[in-house]
Amino acid sequence: MVSMMEKLTVVGGGLAGVEAAWQAAERGVEVDLYEMRPLRTTPAHLTDRLAELVCSNSLGSDLPDRAAGLLKAELRRLGSLILTCADAARVPAGGALAVDREEFAAQVTRAIDSHPRIRLVRQEVMEVPAGPVIIASGPLTSPALAAAIARLTGADYLYFYDAMAPIVYLDSVNLDVAFRASRYDRGSEDAGDYLNCPLSRAEYERFVDELLAAERIELRDFERDIADGRVGAAACGLEPDRFFEGCLPIEVLAARGRQALAFGPMRPVGLIDPRSGRRPYAVVQLRRDNLAGTLYNLVGFQTNLKWPEQKRVFRLIPGLEEAEFARYGQMHRNTFLNAPMLLRPTLQFRGRADLFFAGQITGVEGYVGNAGTGLVAGVNAARLIRGEAPLVFPIETMLGALCHYVTHADPASFQPMKANFGLLPPLANPPHGKRERYAAYSRRALTVLDRWMAEVGMELVSVRAFA
Ligand SMILES: Cc1cc2nc3c(=O)[nH]c(=O)nc-3n(C[C@H](O)[C@H](O)[C@H](O)COP(=O)(O)OP(=O)(O)OC[C@H]3O[C@@H](n4cnc5c(N)ncnc54)[C@H](O)[C@@H]3O)c2cc1C
Repeated sequence: MVSMMEKLTVVGGGLAGVEAAWQAAERGVEVDLYEMRPLRTTPAHLTDRLAELVCSNSLGSDLPDRAAGLLKAELRRLGSLILTCADAARVPAGGALAVDREEFAAQVTRAIDSHPRIRLVRQEVMEVPAGPVIIASGPLTSPALAAAIARLTGADYLYFYDAMAPIVYLDSVNLDVAFRASRYDRGSEDAGDYLNCPLSRAEYERFVDELLAAERIELRDFERDIADGRVGAAACGLEPDRFFEGCLPIEVLAARGRQALAFGPMRPVGLIDPRSGRRPYAVVQLRRDNLAGTLYNLVGFQTNLKWPEQKRVFRLIPGLEEAEFARYGQMHRNTFLNAPMLLRPTLQFRGRADLFFAGQITGVEGYVGNAGTGLVAGVNAARLIRGEAPLVFPIETMLGALCHYVTHADPASFQPMKANFGLLPPLANPPHGKRERYAAYSRRALTVLDRWMAEVGMELVSVRAFA
């Protein structure tokens, strides 16, 4: 147990760090919040404001039957500072919650500046601090701190970029075409963990043509640097990057030669299509991505194609004609931990109970999900400091499910994840239509959350707009 008098250090004044600092301070804890900007900046931030939105001004859907909408509803119930300021800085955007980014960041900065128990320190943190601490330094954690974290976790458990393959919902895959099998019917995996989409030669050729012609997201300078091996572990003085040959974007690999995919991620060896009794010309393998078995990722399909292009081109794959995407493929500069190896669902570091991680560095994606992990870490750090046990948020809630996913996914293939209904435990009696099913997930989540908050005596912090 940590002494009642101890201060909390929070590193990073982004969405997660600010929420964490606020939640802990509102629970009576003194907080030192460290933000390195403007003394030192990142390749994406432009201002010295706290909680700067580095890209889109949309925080995603606000509809109750969407995953992002459910997460927002949960955070509002939990008294989130980020949601309060976002609601107050809202601009019209249909069913989405979009904000005036200047006004939003200004409100958050005012809230932190005016809090009597938060001291904002404009300084780069270069070592993992002693004492109760939350590290929320984000996807662009400064190299010195990244090196210090890697010394703590082991360099093999800290990553410097995403190479994310798309993930589809199982119930949108045509199982009359895709077949279950592991290569050569062997291996440690259960055959049910892989689905295989078979392609004929003509289907393969058309797929390659469309893939090569598809529109790509333009790479930012620092993402080009990743591709050239100029950032990442090597830049932090750690082991050189071992990334790109094994994790090339699928479209880059395809451009190396017409057969590159057929001999690479789409190789059919060891796989017999039970319907034809023959080996297909090429195969796209889908690997199970969550414990519930509702999500499957396209193995080796990390990509920089624009999202509508991913939908169009990957739906050419037999069996995926109607595929619904839980996550599109992406390749980004990112700093994140192998959370399944390193963190508990309370967001505590396994090797040190008073060290918490929050935000994108935990492997959660998206502005609101990251604010949410800040809330979890802030609540739990305050509880630890006050001598109470940290809380595991209910898995039926989107916030609890995200924390569960990042701490229980397969560590061997761990990649960041955003809110989606595939993370929630299946419903006992799911309604038929997708929208009805999602609405039922949301109703269950909010009912469970309300009951849980009453059970654990979760105090609601007071939040008001900081206009
Ligand atoms: C280029 C880019 C575009 C993105 N676009 C989107 C998008 O459109 N939508 C979306 O939902 N998500 C987007 N993301 C992901 C986005 O960064 C996260 O959703 C969110 O900002 C993460 O919150 P965070 O608090 O973890 O990190 P951040 O918001 O980045 O906050 C981390 C803070 O820590 C500070 N910091 C870093 N190192 C140190 C140090 N050593 N000492 C002190 N302070 C430090 C940084 O200056 C920063 O203010 C994007 C990410 C990048 C890199």
